[in-house]
Amino acid sequence: MLNLESNEKALYRIMSKCAICPKKCGSNRNKGHKGVCKAVDEIVIASICVHRGEEPPISAINGSGAVFFSNCTLSCIFCQNYPISQLGNGKKISVEDLVNIMLDFQLKEVHNINFVTPTHYSAQIVRAVLIARKNGLKLPIIYNCSGYEEIETLKLLEGIVDIYLPDIKYSNNETAYKYSGVKDYVEISRVALKEMNKQVGTLKVDDKGVARKGLIVRHLVLPGNIENTKKVLEFVVRELPKDTFVSLMSQYQPAYKSNSFKELSRSLSKEEYEVAVNYLRLLNFRNGWIQNLYNF
Ligand code: SF4
Repeated sequence: MLNLESNEKALYRIMSKCAICPKKCGSNRNKGHKGVCKAVDEIVIASICVHRGEEPPISAINGSGAVFFSNCTLSCIFCQNYPISQLGNGKKISVEDLVNIMLDFQLKEVHNINFVTPTHYSAQIVRAVLIARKNGLKLPIIYNCSGYEEIETLKLLEGIVDIYLPDIKYSNNETAYKYSGVKDYVEISRVALKEMNKQVGTLKVDDKGVARKGLIVRHLVLPGNIENTKKVLEFVVRELPKDTFVSLMSQYQPAYKSNSFKELSRSLSKEEYEVAVNYLRLLNFRNGWIQNLYNF
């Protein structure tokens, strides 16, 4: 039996010498000190919206209730949301505000609460979800993250998160360091994915095709990095169940500091994306989406 109140307390304790993400920078965020990710104790959000462009079972008919958090535990040089993720633009809100956002979304009859870039606010999110559930929240909770997740934090999210939506970015640490500034992405993300799968399993949908629970693995194909994509897909097919849902994304566009690397200073070519899609098929993935959200 999960004791979610004690999970909440544990997460807040972890924030006193912050080890919420794998960077474990040790900042005392409970005292308002800034971490490497620039997050403090207060929640900062950039926007909220009813998102209609997520994968079909997530946006489905009425849309997904998205909350975009400011700051990030990674520093990807190609981040399209860099004003939010790297510059920290946004406004401070309280846990109670987050509760109200969720309950308002439920009144709008969206299908889920979609926490985008939630990692550094895991403690506050757990507190808010527990209060919202006591006040009638029934919607599934989505953890829409980068895959660079601390295993101990993930374990404390069991019973809170219904749908994990990680974007697995890299299959080698050299590339991860070059583009996102971390040297241990591969090991960390692989352990994290297995834990996510252990907690929620393969994606389950209701009779209308709306996601209720499970794991969807995203991967953004980067230009000039097709081998990276192939190895990411190989990992998924080798280490996760055969019916795992994969969302292969092609929407890369140069942004932020991507011009620092020649290969990232252009969009993905049609040919590169076709190579990625063909590889996905070669590996016999059964479930998921390619961009434009065509089923394969
Ligand atoms: S979440 Fe932020 S403050 Fe906490 S360990 Fe990671 S980088 Fe540091």
